[in-house]
Amino acid sequence: MQKLLPALGEQDAYDTLQKLRLTAPAPAFELACSAGSKDAHFSAQAAYDHLSRDPENARRLDYTRAFGLSPKTKLHSLDTLKNLYGNSVSVSASAIEKFYSCPFAYFCQYGLGARERKQADLGALEVGTMVHYVVENAVKALSQGTESDPVAAAGRFAREYAQNLRGADSPRMQALIEQVRENAAIVVQDVWEEVQHSDFKPRYFELNFSDKGDIAPYKWEKDGISFALRGKIDRVDTYGDKLKVVDYKTGNKKYELSDILRGRNLQPFIYMLMLQKAQMGENCAALFLPAKADYINVDDTSEMGKSLEKRTESLRRMGLVRGESEILEALEHTEAGKSPRWLPVTVKKDGSLDPKKSSIAYKSQMDRIIAFAEQKIMDFSEAVASGDISASPCTEDSCKYCAFRTVCFAEDIKTDASIISTNLTDAVLAAIDGEEEQENGKV
Ligand code: SF4
Repeated sequence: MQKLLPALGEQDAYDTLQKLRLTAPAPAFELACSAGSKDAHFSAQAAYDHLSRDPENARRLDYTRAFGLSPKTKLHSLDTLKNLYGNSVSVSASAIEKFYSCPFAYFCQYGLGARERKQADLGALEVGTMVHYVVENAVKALSQGTESDPVAAAGRFAREYAQNLRGADSPRMQALIEQVRENAAIVVQDVWEEVQHSDFKPRYFELNFSDKGDIAPYKWEKDGISFALRGKIDRVDTYGDKLKVVDYKTGNKKYELSDILRGRNLQPFIYMLMLQKAQMGENCAALFLPAKADYINVDDTSEMGKSLEKRTESLRRMGLVRGESEILEALEHTEAGKSPRWLPVTVKKDGSLDPKKSSIAYKSQMDRIIAFAEQKIMDFSEAVASGDISASPCTEDSCKYCAFRTVCFAEDIKTDASIISTNLTDAVLAAIDGEEEQENGKV
């Protein structure tokens, strides 16, 4: 740009974008709301000063700031809770995870109905939704025989999705859509290859648990408030009466089994619980599919081998699988003495499982993990019914990516560092035992 316009000075892109926000009323108001918070951009105060000249804006800003600075602890009245959440609180697995990521963020999203503004183009959220759509529908079409080629199937559903995107004809959007299609095609190919190497076959897609769904929702009462857990399971693969749950994850997902202690990454276990309640079969695997392939630099052939290895690794499933050898073999047909390609399991040189590098659980352990997920659901409802709206994020990352930072004014919040961080089933079960003993007053 400077070659074309030599007089052009350099400008910080972030600063420029912040200043541009001042030119439209809604973004300027949002920016003004963050004035006074620790990491606010200097333009936030300018927006605040400018908008405060209008009495109506000043009233709204003062109200928002007072709300942000007010203590976020508890709502005491049952009537207020019912006004916010309704007489029957309808929750999903991701809503429960949102509560555990931070009760105040849950309150903003599900109580106040606040939403992150949707971007006009393919932002990270939209990309995730598009990849999810393409992978889900392409795998379904391949399984049902209406498509036979994974890449063609991914192309068909990418085009279908893009039809409804605003500005899809612009060259920039076309390039983005193509990138997403390529990425989704790699994931679909990977899933389809995995299906060919397994006795488990995709059977249910978007299995719905709700009043008029495929299976009944989970309903219960807590302190005068009714709760109903509803939702959809991305995919259930079956082999006889054996079940494997697959949840598609399009973000940069990190996973450790110990996350469940903080109420995170509960989804596949909650889905297993729902299948168990519907008596659909035996739990064998609760997995996340990271629907995001690593980029490969095709121009650098010397790095190609390494890149492919990295990509294969990035697509490896996360979660927990049953450790019995016949179940592992049915889940993935693996060459003797080799580690599986897709399952989160490592085989040692002597052919035995490496428990330190494997996410495995035997039947009774899997049952206990699922029972713990149910306990977390109960604890969630108890906390909501008690009016908990505390600004208490479970990790620092919860704040970093939180959409409600501008109304929260969170500062110097400490997270619980005592919770272990591990993928070892025994260690997680020992921590659960410790929690249960504490609750029962034995410690
Ligand atoms: S910024 Fe942090 S403390 Fe505030 S609502 Fe978000 S997660 Fe909670």
